[in-house]
Amino acid sequence: MAGIKIYHLYPDHLNLYGDRGNMIALCRRAEWHNISIEVVPVRPGDKMAFSQCDLLFMGGGQDSDQQMVAEDLKKRSSELSSAVEDGMVIFAVCGSYQLLGSHYITGSGEKIGGLELINLYTEAGTKRLIGNAVINCSLWYPTKTLVGFENHAGKTYLGPGLKPLGQVMIGHGNNGTDKTEGAVYKNVIGTYLHGSLLPKNPWLTDFLLEKALAYRGQDFIPANLDDSLEEQAHNAFIKLAGSKKHKRMSTRA
Ligand code: GLN
Repeated sequence: MAGIKIYHLYPDHLNLYGDRGNMIALCRRAEWHNISIEVVPVRPGDKMAFSQCDLLFMGGGQDSDQQMVAEDLKKRSSELSSAVEDGMVIFAVCGSYQLLGSHYITGSGEKIGGLELINLYTEAGTKRLIGNAVINCSLWYPTKTLVGFENHAGKTYLGPGLKPLGQVMIGHGNNGTDKTEGAVYKNVIGTYLHGSLLPKNPWLTDFLLEKALAYRGQDFIPANLDDSLEEQAHNAFIKLAGSKKHKRMSTRA
């Protein structure tokens, strides 16, 4: 039986807007696809070898949590960087996504050094970017939509050559201006989308499982799952996000 090991980074500190639900979705779909999963919760100061990890999940966090996480992880940044170059999968949401880059300048002007795993930086704006978002995601051809909820002060700017996860159809995305959302580098995916994201976007869940298996030379043999409930949730979300009432409630950059 194929299997992967997932490190869930700082579950007590990085869990905004239901991000923990991403872990539930990963485990449940893995079970349905007959993939065995070992989940390792990693807490600050824990000794863990990233070389043993196939998929690293990090949820969103407040600025104060980000500071603590950055300090703890920066001690391991060279180990993390070589795992990323080898193809380890990282799925990072919002505050964790910001930490993958060079730095994040908070609203109070504090500079939090990032892990420098991917070429981006973040600076807090004066208004939070809040609301339901829909993006056109280019991980697949033809493209598929991803739906999620965003709430961030940080505005993220991608460096040259770094691909966004998708183009914003509804919402704010990376910075509220250039219509990009998230970033993809090798098997690293960063996004502002909470929700939690994966239950309503099962194709992304399967994508992450497939990449984590491939990293260890294993094939993804998908079961024939009935995703009609997930698709209904996805489509209802698009309808809601596109409604005039919802757009009036969302803040603008
Ligand atoms: N503190 C960050 C910001 O507001 C991240 C928040 C989050 O993870 N939702 O930009």
